[in-house]
Amino acid sequence: MKHKGALIVVSAPSGTGKSTVLHQLMEQRKTLRFSVSATTRQPRAGERDGVDYFFISREKFQEMVRDNAFLEYAEYVGNCYGTPKEPVDALLEQGYDVYLDIDVKGAMQVRQQRPDALLIFLAPPSFEELERRLVARGLDRPEVIRQRLNEAEREYAQRGSYDYLVVNDELERAVCEISGIIDRYKDA
Ligand code: 5GP
Repeated sequence: MKHKGALIVVSAPSGTGKSTVLHQLMEQRKTLRFSVSATTRQPRAGERDGVDYFFISREKFQEMVRDNAFLEYAEYVGNCYGTPKEPVDALLEQGYDVYLDIDVKGAMQVRQQRPDALLIFLAPPSFEELERRLVARGLDRPEVIRQRLNEAEREYAQRGSYDYLVVNDELERAVCEISGIIDRYKDA
C-alpha cells in the first residue's frame, strides 16, 4: 500500500452530487486520477468523449466484454457501463490513487476482484432532496428521473456492503470526510 496507489470506489445514486465531490477531491489530492468508464449511453450536453466517458456502441461494448477488457461492468437504467481494466492498473502501478465512480453492481464485482479496494457509499441527505436535484438539473425526462429514483432506493439499501457511508449534506464537509478516509486507508 505504501508504494502502489489505492483503488477507491465511490457509488452514489445519480443526483447525489458526486461529480462535484470528485472535482473538489481532485483539486486537493494531486495523486488522484479518475477512471474514465465506457458507456453505451448518449452523451449529455457538455460531456466530452474520453474525459467524462468513452461513448461507445453496444457492439463495441460487447466486444470489450468478450475480450475481458473490463474490471467490472453493469447495466444501469437501460445502458451499459464498464471500467476499462488496463488504464486502471497502469495508473495504480505508477502510484496514483484511482477513483471509480460506479454503481452498486459494479462495486460488488470490484470487491470480488480486488478485495483490498476501498468502497465508499455517498448518500444524498434525503430522497426528497435527491428528487429535487434531479428535476432541477433538467437533464433527464420525467420517466427516466422516476427510474433513477427507484434505482437510488435499491442502491441505498445496499450501503451496508461498503466500507464507509458518507452523507453529502454539505459539499466541503463530505469532501473532507472522504479525503480523511483515503488518508487513513493509505496509512493502514
Ligand atoms: P450516469 O448515466 O448518471 O452518468 O451514470 C449512471 C450510473 O452509472 C451511476 O450510478 C454511475 O456511477 C454508474 N457508472 C458510471 N460508470 C460506470 C462503470 O464503469 N461501471 C458501473 N458498474 N457503473 C458505472
